[in-house]
Amino acid sequence: MKKTLAPLVQRDVYRVMLLRRGLHDAAPVSGGSPTDLHKLLYSPLLTPDAPAAEDPVAARNALQAALSRGGKKRPVNRLHLPLEEKIAPLASLVGRALTPGEPLTLEKEQIVHILQTADEGLENALYDYADTVTQRYFGKKIYFRGIVEFSNVCTKDCYYCGIRKHIQVKRYSMSKEEIVNCAIFAYESGYGSLMLQSGELPTDKRLAFLVDTIKEVKRVTIEKDKERNGVKEGVENKSLGVAISLGELTKDMFRSLREAGAHRYLLRIESSNPDLYAKLHPADHSWHRRVECLRELNELGFQVGTGVMIGLPGQTLGDLAQDLLFFKSMDIDMIGMGPYICQKDTPLGKLWQEENSNLDTKRYNEKLFRLSTKMVALARIICGDVNIAATTALQAINPQGREVALNQGANMLMPILTPRKYREDYQLYEGKPCIDEGAEECRSCLKNRVQWAGKELTLHDWGDPQHFFSRQNIPTPTRQ
Ligand code: SF4
Repeated sequence: MKKTLAPLVQRDVYRVMLLRRGLHDAAPVSGGSPTDLHKLLYSPLLTPDAPAAEDPVAARNALQAALSRGGKKRPVNRLHLPLEEKIAPLASLVGRALTPGEPLTLEKEQIVHILQTADEGLENALYDYADTVTQRYFGKKIYFRGIVEFSNVCTKDCYYCGIRKHIQVKRYSMSKEEIVNCAIFAYESGYGSLMLQSGELPTDKRLAFLVDTIKEVKRVTIEKDKERNGVKEGVENKSLGVAISLGELTKDMFRSLREAGAHRYLLRIESSNPDLYAKLHPADHSWHRRVECLRELNELGFQVGTGVMIGLPGQTLGDLAQDLLFFKSMDIDMIGMGPYICQKDTPLGKLWQEENSNLDTKRYNEKLFRLSTKMVALARIICGDVNIAATTALQAINPQGREVALNQGANMLMPILTPRKYREDYQLYEGKPCIDEGAEECRSCLKNRVQWAGKELTLHDWGDPQHFFSRQNIPTPTRQ
């Protein structure tokens, strides 16, 4: 597909020059094209003899002279540009040449700058660079995690959630047999991993049910692996990888689930800002306990995943930048982020509707989508060798949302395996895609999305991130 971008304006050229000099706040000037921009990046104008940034008139005159020597300005097709030129605006921002694939340490101010920029050159550089980092660690491989939303019973009351305790919804809990059937479907579809997700219910009865179910999933899928690959001396038959997302439990409960065979745990922090978190939850929901849970999961040897919502009422770009730095500082192995989408019957949804009664939904969703994909790309660039999901919520605000994210930093998709009869009652937000589809349809739809994204679906592989093995100081297994 050919993609032609609108010409960059000269203020971008000038801004690049100033950024290279570390003068981020200098005032921009007028017009230019990407060709000019890239020429200028390597032109003598950017040598120490170039006009001083404190003298914008001299800089502009010199710049215009260079542009007029550059001949006619035409928009360029970015696809044909060398990678070095495509990522040049990002190199200018960080103030040095970039080695494609290398994760970057970014300052909070730089992250905020990227999140707020409307500069297409910089945005595209971000996406292109993020893809080089993904490809360094994963090649073109995309992994599937089949997700089973096995119960919508929850003891918590998060203000944004469509299955919170105080909301009218038909409650359900799937049986062990139903869950194991989903696991068999996942194995036979080559998914590699299963994610069991539910509301938070920290009871001994639920724990016993889960321990039993996880063991059965492991047992049944090891048998399937023996049928598929045979039994070979010295080669361990592998079950499905089991990830769980069950909210905050006690450390002993986490341990029991780990011992039963689950090896990944997803617990979204939702916001790394405790004050914002407090506005999104009742007073007895503790941000500090949530962070402590992430630490406990890490200590117990889980691969730990977390994530945030993007575009929450009251959230600033500084909060989002801090979220990304939080993932890095917590040594997180998996990241799942999605846009905040209003659920109209929740307290936060009602507030959002009041504040946005005259909203241009199309424009709002475009902006939110851009912000969300920038967050995905930045997470990849900052955190490097971690798993990042192209979440279903991205598709809720942009029909191509998930395949776009696969080219901008994400490397995982989560086909829904929840039986169709339960899907309608597990809507955490409004407009959730795929609720009227079955597991078969989700499988073929997502396979197509991977193909459209120009990536390769990797089957029968747990797809554990190198990050986990590096931080545990253990070699990456040859067969996952
Ligand atoms: S976000 Fe999770 S813990 Fe909070 S109400 Fe919803 S299901 Fe329960």
